[in-house]
Amino acid sequence: MSHCPFCKKKIAMSKAFCSRNCKDNYFQLIAIQIPKLFLKRIFIFCTDKEREEEIEKFASMHKWRLDLLKNKIEEEAIKYGYIEDPYKRDEN
Ligand SMILES: [Zn+2]
Repeated sequence: MSHCPFCKKKIAMSKAFCSRNCKDNYFQLIAIQIPKLFLKRIFIFCTDKEREEEIEKFASMHKWRLDLLKNKIEEEAIKYGYIEDPYKRDEN
């Protein structure tokens, strides 16, 4: 068994993704690039409401799906320590 790289569902070894949708989402997610300065600005200098607006603006500017962009931003924010990883708390 192998895993779908997007949703992590178990799939047959012969398949790369569980569905066409996951394939599209996966490649769109890879294409999303978040500049470090943008990340810093929205997490250090923006209120929650401003951050939401900035993210929406950023998504429409690049024609990216908002939910995918939000996922990616969360991932990067955890990586750079702007927010805590909710799954990591139980380790240690
Ligand atoms: Zn999938």
